[in-house]
Amino acid sequence: MPSSCASDSPPPAGVLYVVATPIGHREDITLRALAVLKSASLVAAEDTRKSGELLRHFGIRARLVSYHEHNERERTPQLVSRLLAGETIALVSNAGTPGISDPGFRLVAAAAAAGVRVVPVPGPSAAIAALCASGLPTDAFVFEGFLPKKPGRRRRRLAALAAETRTVILYESPQRLAARAAELLEALGDRPAVLARELTKVHEEFFRGRLSGLLAELERRGEIKGECTLLIGPPEEEPPAGPGPAVREEIRRGLEAGRDPREVVREAALRHGLPRRELYREAVKLKHNRGEPAQGGSSENP
Ligand code: SAM
Repeated sequence: MPSSCASDSPPPAGVLYVVATPIGHREDITLRALAVLKSASLVAAEDTRKSGELLRHFGIRARLVSYHEHNERERTPQLVSRLLAGETIALVSNAGTPGISDPGFRLVAAAAAAGVRVVPVPGPSAAIAALCASGLPTDAFVFEGFLPKKPGRRRRRLAALAAETRTVILYESPQRLAARAAELLEALGDRPAVLARELTKVHEEFFRGRLSGLLAELERRGEIKGECTLLIGPPEEEPPAGPGPAVREEIRRGLEAGRDPREVVREAALRHGLPRRELYREAVKLKHNRGEPAQGGSSENP
């Protein structure tokens, strides 16, 4: 068997690993991500300080180089040269999966075009974390990332989304959330909507309802903090007909817990985008069924 002569052949190209890192909870890092970050000759990071902290937390000493939206044009050919010279580079962003509303695409495309092996090391991404726990259809979805900042471009995007029948996933800053919810309501109608806030962190929260309910809630709260992913459900074929079993159950539990019926109804109406009066009738019915007197009326079992 002829053996290859090392001096005649070009150095074996390195590998570019695209490594997902936690979006909050540090234990969401994968064992494989840790192994790759430990063995890479270089870690290309969106923010070397932030990634340095993460690596130190896991006891990893790595050589870090910055790779962000302001230097990716110059950095990309430099990193590709190092890959072609045989180095192994791990690409990470501040949180989640590189390239997903984060730097990465340019380097991956250039490395692949140069014949370098590109290997994904999958893990957290806010879009998928939010979607899988949203309760909205997951069989078909579209990731829109951040809507354009320029009003004209944003209006055109929103107009295109009005025809979208898949679940839409959006990233948005908390400061712009109420304004976006209002624009989405106007452009898409009162669709089911879920706000996933601070996923995997201490104050993780889901608001599940409709765009009108979400908007009312955001206006009620005033200031919203933390990282937010917004999901819009497909349009319904028919308008919702009265409170369904889930809404009735929510009201029943509230009443059983001894809460003020008006408060229970107010919250359920907001959450599900249903008229308060209809829900109040439901609350009265439920109270009657439990043999309790309705407010201002007599106990009467139907
Ligand atoms: N590459 C990341 C990923 O894979 O999820 C996304 C980076 S993008 C610059 C950051 C945006 O992702 C935030 O503004 C927010 O919309 C969303 N996001 C990130 N972390 C989140 C979290 N813990 N909970 C909810 N949304 C989050």
